[in-house]
Amino acid sequence: MNWAVGSCQVYSRLPQFNESKAFQHLEQQVRFGPRDPGSRGHELTRNYLITQLKSYTPRVELQNFSFKEGEIHYTLTNIIGIFGPDKPSTQKSSYILAAHWDTRPWADQDPNPDNHMKPIPGANDGASGVAVLLEMARLFAQRQPDRRVIVVFFDGEDLGKTYIPGEEMNNNWLLGSKYFARHIGSYKTDYGIVLDMIGDQNLNIYKEKFSLDRAPDLVNKIWGIAEKLGYKEFRKEPGTFILDDHWSLNFLAGIPSIDLIDLDYPYWHTLNDTPDKCSPRSLKAVGDVLVHLIYGE
Ligand SMILES: [Zn+2]
Repeated sequence: MNWAVGSCQVYSRLPQFNESKAFQHLEQQVRFGPRDPGSRGHELTRNYLITQLKSYTPRVELQNFSFKEGEIHYTLTNIIGIFGPDKPSTQKSSYILAAHWDTRPWADQDPNPDNHMKPIPGANDGASGVAVLLEMARLFAQRQPDRRVIVVFFDGEDLGKTYIPGEEMNNNWLLGSKYFARHIGSYKTDYGIVLDMIGDQNLNIYKEKFSLDRAPDLVNKIWGIAEKLGYKEFRKEPGTFILDDHWSLNFLAGIPSIDLIDLDYPYWHTLNDTPDKCSPRSLKAVGDVLVHLIYGE
């Protein structure tokens, strides 16, 4: 029996990631409208995510917090679903799987300057990571992982105006993950994985630099699985440092964490970040790798 045959038999017992279902979650989020904090779309999506997660696990918890900037007062919510054994297993690594569910209030990269103050649809930047995790949650309900897995939807990732390196604590990016990391408590896991902008039709996920620095063993594991499965979307070359929610998990919660992201997306922070620029196949590549990670060794 060769490796391929053996692996097929093993793999066929795994729950199957359904990319059509995942893509429907992406489209549904976009149909709610832009999900910038305070908007109607934000409220509708919050309710949708809570309802969806509750259909997969009784262990859904909310972190409500507020953020004030000038006269604007944002009410933000991290949405958390817990799967697997209550007590962390000593043999099997536990994981946080996270994505941000808010979308940017300003399309400040739009080719048309008239659009710079309008909110983005966020099909890729926001909805794609959430879509994959909702489909993962369905699989976890079908077959509970034998390790602890915490699915987190972070709010307030994309409220930053300018990014100044070295001033990560003083800017408005990553609000939800910063709050979560400061209140980590029983949510502490062995590793964290953040999904962001993984729906691009032309998906290329490079090895992001903070990830390589802080969790090289997890990077190797993920890329090893992708190679076995033949997903060339996972590129072998290192990428750049990207400020994303894994920053908070790494530096504020002390959880070695990686970011799966493709920042090379022409529609990033524009009004053109719409579902037609995304692909179910890209969601499948990421979803399949995560299925093999969570149900694997
Ligand atoms: Zn963004």
